[in-house]
Amino acid sequence: MTLIALNADVLVTMDAQRREIKGGALVADGPAVQWVGATADLPAQYRRMADEGRARVLDMRGKVVTPGLVNTHHHMYQSLTRAVPAAQDAELFSWLTNLYMLWSHLTPEMIHISTQTAMAELMLSGCTTTSDHLYLFPNGSRLDDSIVAAQQMGMRFHAARGSMSLGRSKGGLPPDVVVEEEEAILRDSLRLIQQYHDGSRHSMLRVVLAPCSPFSVTRELMRESAVLARAHGVSLHTHLAENDNDVAFSREKFGLTPAQYAEDLGWVGRDVWHAHCVKLDPEGIALFARTGTGVAHCPCSNMRLASGIAPIRSMRDAGVPVGLGVDGSASNDGAHMLGEARQAMLLQRVGYGPAAMSAREALEIATLGGARVLNRDDIGALAPGMSADFVAFDMEGVAHAGAGHDPVAALVFCTPAQVSSSVINGRVVVEDGRLLTADLPVVLGRHRDLARTLFERAAGH
Ligand SMILES: [Zn+2]
Repeated sequence: MTLIALNADVLVTMDAQRREIKGGALVADGPAVQWVGATADLPAQYRRMADEGRARVLDMRGKVVTPGLVNTHHHMYQSLTRAVPAAQDAELFSWLTNLYMLWSHLTPEMIHISTQTAMAELMLSGCTTTSDHLYLFPNGSRLDDSIVAAQQMGMRFHAARGSMSLGRSKGGLPPDVVVEEEEAILRDSLRLIQQYHDGSRHSMLRVVLAPCSPFSVTRELMRESAVLARAHGVSLHTHLAENDNDVAFSREKFGLTPAQYAEDLGWVGRDVWHAHCVKLDPEGIALFARTGTGVAHCPCSNMRLASGIAPIRSMRDAGVPVGLGVDGSASNDGAHMLGEARQAMLLQRVGYGPAAMSAREALEIATLGGARVLNRDDIGALAPGMSADFVAFDMEGVAHAGAGHDPVAALVFCTPAQVSSSVINGRVVVEDGRLLTADLPVVLGRHRDLARTLFERAAGH
């Protein structure tokens, strides 16, 4: 059915002119946007459709409408292991070491329910497209478990088939019990691409190949994953240069900086994006800019683990594609996409001064930036022919009182709001702040039980 959104206080398009339309309206038919403009200019044919009840009308009075936000890095299974006491006050390597054994008890149902839960949290915070990086598959778990969850939730999904093959006995960080054989990883990667990957415009599901990190996979697996991905036109994703220890590991084991390591493996290009890059050096920034290699910036996680301040200002100035990632729920215990945009803005200012990032730039990184990082030109902006992914934030509550001077900037400056509505691929998935695609109390009840079960099983070992 045709969808007509009317009377938005401001409609932020992120189109080529970055238009912000007062009294904005938008028409969507099926998965695509048909028309964007001022409500007063709505073409007669759409007005007639609305009057005759042949279109669904969404009244956006009192709201700011933006393109759906794009999350480029997450580990959704970690929503079962938030605020774990043993991992509250650690940096990356010891944080991981304290959690790996707990995660080795994950089950297929835990992956499914934790993904639904994490997606609900993202959707309510303005996110319409997300990636998820799942890199351990204990007890029969498969990437299929999270793909099914995404289909149930109605989210646009880039499912990253993660992997770990370098266990502790071979000089890696993770215990041997959570790593896989490389041959099995590549076989399963191919199966997933053939079974699920949809490279078409408005695709709701793309598969990504994503060996986990320099300290948990071999160079051979990195190279072979790249060959496989490129043979099938799918993107590549991993963690890179997250903190000083990560850089030291790269220098010691490979004699290379993280950026040199990535280049050496063929892991640069528009079809590649790296999470964090907090410690990417100037040469690395130039390399990423030259090759169109993307960065998933995760400010909350970087602060939580005291990894540092990623040089996003320098990256953006050099032309590196930058998107935002909330990162896994065990290193960012609050996965709020609009909140992540706010933290990105604030953290750049801490590092590089008050002009280092404006509210509008943060919003642009959260939408268009993420789209570019995921190598898509059909999301991140609202214009005819783009995917019908848009969200509305109510500006009339206490959080935005007195911020009417600039409602668009207020979205980022004020307390991050939950969405009042969300539309993904032309389908209303949140209405009046209520998620329509899942019975949230039921999902959360099961999630609570499974989180408890996971800890009990881990304690039994
Ligand atoms: Zn991560």
